[in-house]
Amino acid sequence: MTQTPYYFYDLDLLNETLSCLESNIKGTNFKVHYAVKANNNRDILETISKKGLGADCVSGGEIRWSLESGFSPSEIVFAGVGKTDEEILYALENEVGMIHCESLQEILVINELAERLNTYATIALRLNPNVNPLTHEKISTGLKENKFGLTSLEFEELIQLYPSLNNVRIVGLHFHIGSQIHDMSVYVELCDRINELVPLFEEHIGEFTYLNVGGGLGIDYFEPDENPIPEFKEYFEVFKEALTIDPSIPVHFELGRSIVGQCGSLHTKVLYVKRSEEKNFAVLDAGMTELLRPALYNAYHKIERLDNVTSGEELHYDIVGPICESSDCFGRDILLPELKRGDIITIRSCGAYAESMSLNYNGRDKVPSYVHSSSELVMREKC
Ligand SMILES: *Cc1c(COP(=O)(O)O)cnc(C)c1O
Repeated sequence: MTQTPYYFYDLDLLNETLSCLESNIKGTNFKVHYAVKANNNRDILETISKKGLGADCVSGGEIRWSLESGFSPSEIVFAGVGKTDEEILYALENEVGMIHCESLQEILVINELAERLNTYATIALRLNPNVNPLTHEKISTGLKENKFGLTSLEFEELIQLYPSLNNVRIVGLHFHIGSQIHDMSVYVELCDRINELVPLFEEHIGEFTYLNVGGGLGIDYFEPDENPIPEFKEYFEVFKEALTIDPSIPVHFELGRSIVGQCGSLHTKVLYVKRSEEKNFAVLDAGMTELLRPALYNAYHKIERLDNVTSGEELHYDIVGPICESSDCFGRDILLPELKRGDIITIRSCGAYAESMSLNYNGRDKVPSYVHSSSELVMREKC
């Protein structure tokens, strides 16, 4: 039997998701960049780059992985609130398409480094639109109190300084308000803010040729089988309808979770079952080191027994990992067929922010991944 735990990726579902994405932006000037931080598994990156998406990177390491996986430099955007000088130089030397900037000081540093390389940097400003994404507080990024984006104070100062910066060209704006967003009205609100801010940009900075609206579209963690493909149609419809800017300006998206979230699962084994007066515990060989989201965000993941034949009794279990932390718990009072030592458990919707967030805490090794794909691709009815 295969050694557990491991990540399992269904590349057929990933390809279907990508085809669905493609069909929803056909005939528009929308361009999707995959947010590499969601999952940097090589098979996944190569599958996505083959489909012609760009890459959204938040470190020099992610830029390198993207280049190695076939993304072309001009289709790479480099974002992040704390880019190091080395990372900026690496991005400039590799001629990545766009750098998203989040502070005045960062822009001054980029100008200086570009001058040193005798080149110029094409940049977009990440503005904080102060839009509430109505999601978990730890994955909200577009509110005033969040660390992300240029503040309006710094924007004013930049307007004064820009004429003296000879090695940066500011061509547009970038936004990203948060993650696991289901309420489409949030995106309508974002579009309204963009419609207000673009004329301001044109007035004070110059010609506006680039818009990036970020990512954040949510997936159904509760019913991954019923809803394996996210609501791309509704999502893109919002931007088609609510943006009033010149339609010839390309609109870039940075989707992570919605592209890869449902194609992965974590397979793990029950090490021990124990009972107390109040509860049953199932102790797994995977823990928060392989899937951090429940410990970090109280996130829900569907938990199943791989052989889900329900002969006989179902019981409630707290499903916990082996790590020495009380937060190392995947779910409480989960109803499952009676578990015994050696049973295989699948934790669903682990394609995004599981393997890429894995840790070596408690002296644990990184675990392997397996991919499955058949050559024949069956499209689900939804698209
Ligand atoms: C994380 C991140 C994304 C992707 O978010 P998802 O919720 O996975 O779509 C996009 N843009 C930026 C700037 C990010 O930090």
